[in-house]
Amino acid sequence: MIQHTPGPWWIDNPVEAEKGDDFWPIYSGAFGTRAAVNVADVYTAADARLIAAAPEMLGEVVDTVREWQGLCSCSDTGIVCKGCRNRALLARIEGGKT
Ligand SMILES: [Zn+2]
Repeated sequence: MIQHTPGPWWIDNPVEAEKGDDFWPIYSGAFGTRAAVNVADVYTAADARLIAAAPEMLGEVVDTVREWQGLCSCSDTGIVCKGCRNRALLARIEGGKT
């Protein structure tokens, strides 16, 4: 069971730091409400976009693992199949070893 902060996540306006680096806060929950929860503060816009997309990407990984159930072709081809690559990625996300 995955125990991450529920998505979707969104990026707020960058915060200009008085000292140090500016950062982009990432939130979960309804935009502009007290229910929003800070998930992370990230120091580049590109990283903020990537991290904010994580819940959707996780959904894609879960869907891919489900779609590839029983379709593994690794032993036939000698190449790690898409299903196994996504199963290993999902295990890493869930805190397991790959
Ligand atoms: Zn496989």
